[in-house]
Amino acid sequence: MRWILFFVTLIGSSICGREKFFGDQVFRINVRNGDEVSKLTRLVNSDNFKLNFWSSPSALGRPVDVLVPSISLQPVKSFLKSQGLEYSVTIDDLQALLDNEDEEMQYNEGQERSNNTFNYGAYHTLEAIYQEMDNIATDFPDLASRVKIGQSFENRPMYVLKFSTGGEQRPAIWLNAGIHSREWISQATAIWTARKIVSDYGEDPAVTSILEKVDIFLLPVANPDGYVYTHTRNRLWRKTRSLNPGSRCVGTDPNRNWNASFAGEGSSDNPCSEVYHGPHANSEVEVKSVVDFIQKHGNFKCFIDLHSYSQLLMYPYGYTVKKAPDAEELDDVARHAAAALASLWGTKFQVGPTCTTVYPASGSSIDWAYNNGIKYAFTFELRDTGHYGFLLPANQIIPTAEETWLGLKTIMEHVRDNLY
Ligand SMILES: [Zn+2]
Repeated sequence: MRWILFFVTLIGSSICGREKFFGDQVFRINVRNGDEVSKLTRLVNSDNFKLNFWSSPSALGRPVDVLVPSISLQPVKSFLKSQGLEYSVTIDDLQALLDNEDEEMQYNEGQERSNNTFNYGAYHTLEAIYQEMDNIATDFPDLASRVKIGQSFENRPMYVLKFSTGGEQRPAIWLNAGIHSREWISQATAIWTARKIVSDYGEDPAVTSILEKVDIFLLPVANPDGYVYTHTRNRLWRKTRSLNPGSRCVGTDPNRNWNASFAGEGSSDNPCSEVYHGPHANSEVEVKSVVDFIQKHGNFKCFIDLHSYSQLLMYPYGYTVKKAPDAEELDDVARHAAAALASLWGTKFQVGPTCTTVYPASGSSIDWAYNNGIKYAFTFELRDTGHYGFLLPANQIIPTAEETWLGLKTIMEHVRDNLY
């Protein structure tokens, strides 16, 4: 009886609290010109459909993925038809994907408990990721250490793994992941990468030589509150969990909150928007903690931000169509990285500056990094291109991490050879 109660409580606390998406679908809507963008923007702004945009409309001709709740399916279809907008259904049963993911996670947690292991091919809670970071630092004390760089809005610690073979304030590389909490493949890729760095040091000459010259700092969960919320309340939560006085809506888009053309194009001043930029630059303590750490360190040469999805490798700028002064070099590095990435499983990444590749985005991390003297600034949008979107099945974690690693290594080798 006690056991039954225990399981009921366990299941109740982990499943029942989370928002359900029965019958909800994801639409891919084609937008080919400014006229269609404004039609779609009308749809975006109409609150009554309760849509959630998985990608932003832009005039670049990229299709837009939108989560349509079951109750809005008919009205949205009619609207699209009346406006002459073409669409297809990319996910026809969102809850089925969520149920699969949940079952797999629970099964894996049981396996890990009985084997006392960390399965890199599974998704994990914040607690499990933090524990594994600790394990890595304990297993490789001469190479890795876990550093606390701050606390989230809800007072969770923010941990970074520092990989260093010695030397004072060596030039450094910042690897960032999970700033958007629902992009689970990014946090999973990051923790896999941490283990890869410690296991390949001394084995892979590229890793060894990189770490002889530069330190690597890896932040696998840049938005811990959001990440916990995706596990407990809403799997599709993107923003931070900070409160917005005067609004019922919670959170700021932490990748519109950096001090780089803050509040400009591609961000919103509406707290209910998925791209709300926040009240001022660095208002989000999660962003401020990284900014303070990087500025205090003073010798970062590279900043890489891992997101999903879309299979893109981008560099500054996001806030302007103007070419960055180093655009040619960055483009060249990104193309080599994308080729290395594709060499493993054939996964194709599109390369270019953010603004003209996807959409304008102000206040983004890599623009801030670039404008603050960190030349090698890149954003990865990892797998896939929309078939599963944010709900990439766990059996793709290791292949994704492996291919991404080849891209990351290419960039890090270039940094090693081009320190400035
Ligand atoms: Zn993102």
